[in-house]
Amino acid sequence: MNRTQRDRYPNFINGQWVQSEKCFQNRNPADNTLLGSVSEAGRAEVDAAVQAARAALDGPWSKMTTARRAELLHAVADGIMARFDEFVAAEIADTGKPYHLASHLDIPRGAANFKIFADVVKNVPAESFEMATPDGGQAINYAVRSPKGVIGVICPWNLPLLLMTWKVGPALACGNTVVVKPSEETPATATLLAEVMNAVGIPPGVYNVVHGFGKDSAGEFLTADAGVDAITFTGETGTGEAIMAAAARGIRAVSMELGGKNAGIVFADCDFDKAVAGIARAAFDNSGQVCLGTERVYVQRPIFERFVAALKDKAESLRLGDPLAEGTSFGPLVSLEHRRKVLSYYARAVGDGATVVTGGGVPDMPGALGEGAWVQPTIWTGLPESSAVIREEIFGPCCHIAPFDTEEEAAALANDTQYGLATTIWTRDIGTAHRMAGAIKVGICWINSWFLRDLRTAFGGAKQSGIGREGGVHSLEFYTELKNVCVKL
Ligand code: NAD
Repeated sequence: MNRTQRDRYPNFINGQWVQSEKCFQNRNPADNTLLGSVSEAGRAEVDAAVQAARAALDGPWSKMTTARRAELLHAVADGIMARFDEFVAAEIADTGKPYHLASHLDIPRGAANFKIFADVVKNVPAESFEMATPDGGQAINYAVRSPKGVIGVICPWNLPLLLMTWKVGPALACGNTVVVKPSEETPATATLLAEVMNAVGIPPGVYNVVHGFGKDSAGEFLTADAGVDAITFTGETGTGEAIMAAAARGIRAVSMELGGKNAGIVFADCDFDKAVAGIARAAFDNSGQVCLGTERVYVQRPIFERFVAALKDKAESLRLGDPLAEGTSFGPLVSLEHRRKVLSYYARAVGDGATVVTGGGVPDMPGALGEGAWVQPTIWTGLPESSAVIREEIFGPCCHIAPFDTEEEAAALANDTQYGLATTIWTRDIGTAHRMAGAIKVGICWINSWFLRDLRTAFGGAKQSGIGREGGVHSLEFYTELKNVCVKL
């Protein structure tokens, strides 16, 4: 079939559109309007996609020179940017995120991921060691990298294209082929990307997309498929556990980018305005649906009251509205279902004795937006650290602020969690900054900044926030097999 109807999201297998018998609806979370009908891949379609990926792997893709593959991946990036408006519109319709976010972050970064990893793979040196041998002779060792195989790519909905290409970019650059399972909430940009893949001449079977849900659906079928050599996953920690269990069969490698309950720590000597602006972004950007976001804020006692008041002003100055309208800075949550989860924590906070500094409910939205998945940006104080609101990832536009006195106390509070993804620390004291960076058990630590990303750096979580690191050369650890060749001279 041709994918001429924009309200259809078929699977993409071996370069062809494949419609499933079973379909589900895709809705716009800003106003709950129907966007279209998504094919739900069954076991047979998932298996066909895995087989197509295997054939492409054994065929043209891994045989192609690295330079030619890199050229094609640059063309994919250019192909996305050539259809920039379509990608932006699709991402906004699926997620409800404001135009400035989709157009400045999601789509440009989604495209850039192909160029960056193509260049990493082209330029990475191989290691080599000379050694003396027991017979008085010599040997040299050198390492070669080969693709790991067929990679199953399971994605979340919060930054759909960006997080998917963060995996697909390095996977393809290293010579692997992929079967992607986008989130059921956000099928559009993975489907559009398939059009770009065909248009620029990526061989059939290199990039496949199967749509559907997790359990008893495409996600589970993909992770259970013995033809998948390794699985890269971004999503909730609980889902990560299920995927690791599936990957255990056949001893298949996993890369896990999981949940967080990140702490922001603000010292009294910080640049106050920058700290308030930074924490406001960390708590409310993308309506709090960022894995790196801050739901626990600890502020040193001398500036506590002033900080709470200033963050309240920031939250109340966010502009809720049509995501496409100029000036909108805050969109809805991804779905009505996710709103139910977030609102359950809003109720729990009150039940646990929180002071609601601002928000706490559903905003009154005009016209059709009244049907959307909106919640108010929310700040609490006064909760005990044992509250589920402080312990569990909410993934909404909300944070709790508590005072602290000493560095040791702040580090202990920040570390008192099963998660270990990211932290953001605000201080002008260089000693404090470095001591705190050392003390906090996370994969990513920002000082006087948040979500400032150099894509060459390692990205990933400690504790239950993940396994492995991706980014720059670190991605090669997962997407390639490193073989040592020892030559006796
Ligand atoms: P989720 O775990 O509910 O779903 C993620 C994906 O897994 C979806 O495609 C889903 O269909 C699939 N899935 C669900 N159950 C499955 C199963 N049993 N087998 C196979 N696939 C299955 O996560 P979400 O709600 O889409 O995303 C939000 C979560 O992602 C948050 O916890 C957030 O912190 C996390 N996240 C982490 C990072 C990171 O880099 N660490 C980045 C973004 C989001």
